[in-house]
Amino acid sequence: MIKLSFYKTGEYIIICPMINYDEPLYRPPSEANSLIIQATLGCSHNRCTFCEMYKSKSYIEREIEDVEAEIESMSSYGKIRRVFIADGDAMALPADKLLRILIKLNTTFPSLQRVSIYANPGNLLKKTPEELKSLSEAGLTLLYLGIESGSDLILKKINKGALFSHQKEAIIKAMANGIDVSATIITGLGGKEFWHEHIEESARLVSEAAPTFLSTLSLMISPLTSEPFISAFENGFEQQTDAGMLEEEKLLISLIDPPRKIIFRSNHASNALALRGTLPGDREKLVEKIDSALSGEIAVRPEWMRGL
Ligand code: SF4
Repeated sequence: MIKLSFYKTGEYIIICPMINYDEPLYRPPSEANSLIIQATLGCSHNRCTFCEMYKSKSYIEREIEDVEAEIESMSSYGKIRRVFIADGDAMALPADKLLRILIKLNTTFPSLQRVSIYANPGNLLKKTPEELKSLSEAGLTLLYLGIESGSDLILKKINKGALFSHQKEAIIKAMANGIDVSATIITGLGGKEFWHEHIEESARLVSEAAPTFLSTLSLMISPLTSEPFISAFENGFEQQTDAGMLEEEKLLISLIDPPRKIIFRSNHASNALALRGTLPGDREKLVEKIDSALSGEIAVRPEWMRGL
């Protein structure tokens, strides 16, 4: 039996009683029905100034035998169709270890349809095309990549450890080798001073790299990260209002012009307005919905219901 636990993201996470999770535990909104397997703990980068997710943990690669035993312990738990490999950037694991995990997942769960993982551009680019292809063939279907911004100015300020060129190369490389990419951009990240630069460069990056999925999150500054984050903005950081972030979303959607269809979602718990559609096909419909929210015609999610 799998139980549901209410933790951290403001949404339910499937917590298996057979697995002793190392908390805090995070997963993307679209992995709400996935079994989470922690192959690594924490984040190998852990230096993005806005991010508090894994500040309480040191990065560790778990013993592969322990991960395999954990997967085995789930063998009698009915039909597992989706697995999410955590923590923050489990793609940092060497390809041979990831392959062992994928093989174990496939042999343990005959109904398995999708395996996904968090990645960052640095550890994705360290993998060779051959390694990515073999991971894809072993069942790794989807990478979640927090690109956050396409602007080099913002990427340096937030200490992302990757610039526009790295982000673009990472997305294209993964997709060329058979792995879908779900990329995220954080609205509000440039504050009121740099929002045009942030959004225009993000739209250019998304248009040129054309990930399979794109989603947006809204910036939420926590007390733990506010000092390092804000100190990078020499003139101070004036936070965007809800309306400002909706204007950012509107400009982003208006500017994205990809060579192939991108599935767009803005369903994260941090967002004031949930949006879904494809780009560029649904551009007008999405912009209309944002305009309705800006004019007060439709309600935005109350602040007390938002979270990370
Ligand atoms: S945003 Fe991602 S890469 Fe950056 S510190 Fe947080 S988990 Fe790590």
